[in-house]
Amino acid sequence: MPTTRCYYEVLSVERDASGDEVKRSYRRLAMKFHPDRNPDNPEAEAKFKEAAEAYEVLSDAERRRMYDRHGREGLRGRPGHDFNSMRPDDIFSMFNDIFDGMGGGRSRGRRAQARGFDLETEVDLDLEEVLTGATRDVNFTRMDVCDTCTGGGAAPGTRPESCATCGGQGKVQQAGLGGMFRMVTACPSCHGRGTVVLTPCIDCGGQGRCPTDRKLAVRIPAGIHNGQAVRVAGEGEPPSADVDPGGNGVRGDLHVVVRIAGNPRFERDGSNLLLMQPVAFTTLALGGDVEVPLLGEDESHTLHVKAGTQPGDLMRINEQGIPDLRNGRRGDLVVVLKLVVPRKLDDNQRALLAQYAESESTPIDDHSPSMWDRIKDAFRG
Ligand SMILES: [Zn+2]
Ligand SMILES: [Zn+2]
Repeated sequence: MPTTRCYYEVLSVERDASGDEVKRSYRRLAMKFHPDRNPDNPEAEAKFKEAAEAYEVLSDAERRRMYDRHGREGLRGRPGHDFNSMRPDDIFSMFNDIFDGMGGGRSRGRRAQARGFDLETEVDLDLEEVLTGATRDVNFTRMDVCDTCTGGGAAPGTRPESCATCGGQGKVQQAGLGGMFRMVTACPSCHGRGTVVLTPCIDCGGQGRCPTDRKLAVRIPAGIHNGQAVRVAGEGEPPSADVDPGGNGVRGDLHVVVRIAGNPRFERDGSNLLLMQPVAFTTLALGGDVEVPLLGEDESHTLHVKAGTQPGDLMRINEQGIPDLRNGRRGDLVVVLKLVVPRKLDDNQRALLAQYAESESTPIDDHSPSMWDRIKDAFRG
């Protein structure tokens, strides 16, 4: 079944993300959910295919424009691939240019430079930290070349032997389609290495790779969005032992996915913030000052409310929103004035209000647009 989620949401990118951001995000998700890394996991496979579908649309300027304008309906006339009926390997090779010889032994020989797997980890941020950016110590585990056997997998003093099945070629020929074709595939005995280890290294069990704990200080830029990832180039894994036992070639990257916690007072909308500010009837009717909290600051901001202001009216405090990730310009704080009626009155207050009610002659008539329309307008403006 094709995905019903928004393509931007699937790839965790903003609607104005550049082609490069779209590509990087897709690459990260495709690595994460690749069936080779998630064997027998239909959920991962579905996510893998969902990401491919989103990438096919968002990486093509024309289709992306149609999608932005008309949603899925806009793509009716230009159907994409049916990724659900495709094999993951075929999807992987379809967008081959972004994966650069990744995916284990599959693409070996096609490129001179082998590349290791990307890794992914997560950090949590508060909305306050999004204002300034933050530095986080990130701990993760990656498979590194075993020091004891330098990745070959053989116990010290022994050597891997040439594989008898393939004669050291790493490939075997198989007859396909009743002998009509001869297909060359990776040797099943040595997984394409051409050698087999008879006396495995004790430290890595003959795998040539050992899990290594690593700690890095990672800078998260101000203005980052929930679900976006910071890429730390070259902190992923070395090429797999099947591709290059010594791990020579290009390391994968580390992707640090940022999760931003919800804030009890402020709601984020792009680079703007929204705040519901309680005010008394008398403040709205008579005019007065309201103290409004600012994100990340101890001092509040004094808002001057004019006499006759209506509940739901918006007031804008310039440049008290969130900085834009690219240009650092801060959005605005949009304050929605929310009328609060006292739950209890003392005798004196009740008498005064009753007297006021008697004097009130204006018929109650509300021609103002709905509050949500006004909020939507404020964000568009
Ligand atoms: Zn070893
Ligand atoms: Zn072999």
